Amino acid sequence: MMTIREYKRAETLEEAWQLNQKKANRVLGGMIWLKMENINVGTAIDLSGLGLDAIEETEDSFSIGAMVTLRQLEEHPGLAAYTRGAVKEALRHIVGVQLRNLATVGGSIYSRFGFSDVLTLFMAMDCSVELYKGGIVSLREYAERPYDRDILVRLIVKKENAEFFYQSVRNSQTDIPVLTCAAARLADGCYRIAIGARPLKAVLYEFPAENGVPAQELALKCADAVKNDIITDSNMRGSAEYRRHLAGVLTKRAVVELEARTAQEEN
Ligand SMILES: Cc1cc2nc3c(=O)[nH]c(=O)nc-3n(C[C@H](O)[C@H](O)[C@H](O)COP(=O)(O)OP(=O)(O)OC[C@H]3O[C@@H](n4cnc5c(N)ncnc54)[C@H](O)[C@@H]3O)c2cc1C
Repeated sequence: MMTIREYKRAETLEEAWQLNQKKANRVLGGMIWLKMENINVGTAIDLSGLGLDAIEETEDSFSIGAMVTLRQLEEHPGLAAYTRGAVKEALRHIVGVQLRNLATVGGSIYSRFGFSDVLTLFMAMDCSVELYKGGIVSLREYAERPYDRDILVRLIVKKENAEFFYQSVRNSQTDIPVLTCAAARLADGCYRIAIGARPLKAVLYEFPAENGVPAQELALKCADAVKNDIITDSNMRGSAEYRRHLAGVLTKRAVVELEARTAQEEN
């Protein structure tokens, strides 16, 4: 159980940051994960008054506030159009609408869970996090960092000329995933493949463009590279060996799908 001694609705990011420097204090996102922990919180720091609950789209980027809920992400028409539904596909399996109405982007990215669909999804994009004191850091770098006491202010997704595709394997519809895969095909033919729920944190593979190689051949080549390199582990949801196999299968499917889309557009 989580107990909270004091509650403070922060009036500025500086105030939130100052309060968060004390070890006993905790920032609140949607509190979905926090409330399952067995902790005594000194001061619970609420960020809901700081205007961080909006997704702003410009010509070249999306700015996603830390207090944006997973449901807001899932329903955002601009993100849906930009990713051709990959954002919705990544989020729609996470428990249920009620949970996604509460769980936040900030809480999800700060937590950097191994099983995170959210982390896997954004790893395949040109995505950075804005930290109040730490400034702008690429998500790839942030994913590797140890937990600190900075405030995650927003995610910044730079728009690229790219196609996206998201898949996950789950033992049952709304369970935590056995494996996640987010893929991006850039206009020049380069690929980014993020694999998560290994059950370790998502990792990113990048492949240079190989123009003229048939789709199936390219897909097999990428799948073999991922399969041979990826570090997986076993837990109650699947064995390391099964996950390695799935990593190859999902990579292959992603490349086949994205090559088919490109071919369709060219015709
Ligand atoms: C039963 C269950 C099933 C789930 N299944 C999935 C799943 O299948 N796929 C998936 O991707 N996710 C899943 N999740 C995780 C969920 O999507 C959220 O990522 C998680 O609940 C954290 O989000 P939150 O807003 O509730 O954060 P909270 O619980 O409020 O906070 C989590 C941590 O982040 C810190 N924090 C929050 N906001 C900030 C900020 N702005 N700056 C700095 N630190 C911050 C908090 O202090 C805390 O340490 C699941 C969660 C639950 C409870």
